[in-house]
Amino acid sequence: MNPFSDPFARIRDNVASVQARIADAAHRSGRSSSAVRLVAVTKYVDAAMAGLLVKAGLTDLGESRPQELWSKAAALADLAPHWHLVGHLQSNKVRRTLPLKPLIHSADSLKILEATSREAQGLGLTSELLLEVNVSGDAAKHGFAPAEVAPLLPRIAALGHIKVTGLMTMASREGDEGRARREFAALRELRDRLAAACPPEVSLGELSMGMSGDYQVAIEEGATMVRLGSVLFEGLTGQPTP
Ligand SMILES: *Cc1c(COP(=O)(O)O)cnc(C)c1O
Repeated sequence: MNPFSDPFARIRDNVASVQARIADAAHRSGRSSSAVRLVAVTKYVDAAMAGLLVKAGLTDLGESRPQELWSKAAALADLAPHWHLVGHLQSNKVRRTLPLKPLIHSADSLKILEATSREAQGLGLTSELLLEVNVSGDAAKHGFAPAEVAPLLPRIAALGHIKVTGLMTMASREGDEGRARREFAALRELRDRLAAACPPEVSLGELSMGMSGDYQVAIEEGATMVRLGSVLFEGLTGQPTP
């Protein structure tokens, strides 16, 4: 059958096979599949296609650009997915983003944490964020250097109306599976070291790591959330495959 004739069937198949791989990887790391949340990144597709993911049973959708998050959240309001912002957030986009109550995976400066705290207070809500860490040291990537995080935690703890619940990273673009594995392990080890001296206002339970090309490795190394785009759209709309 031509997959374009029934995109929903294709998406359902893709979701099922990804979920099976997530479960296998979780079991290899001694955890149950419910310990790993699948965030479906919809940046390659339109709102209608993103909606098919929700109809296929996924409840967590992610976007990397705030403007796309705003427009897809409006288009899919009836389906009420839980949104995730996985890409860089600029201060001037915070006010419009927070009412959508996304989990922000990409807090990458004290400035953006302060802006989020301030705007969340104004809106009367509490925003959840992860700290993005540039484990690979790639100059083109956003994120805190690993050594910057410990001194930051007391300052984050002093900010109201935000809740930091974990860390996020992206593996190097170039590099093999072994390199990605070392980078994911480095994020987990950083988290374990920080946890010893973490203020009670901050929790570091979540590890958002792993994309289409490396999510199984990330889960083996302790990911609690994987951010998957292209693997969910294989066979559809000519999307890149990892
Ligand atoms: C695009 C994107 C993803 C998903 O990428 P795929 O390789 O298509 O799975 C995950 N995380 C971030 C931050 C992204 O920008």
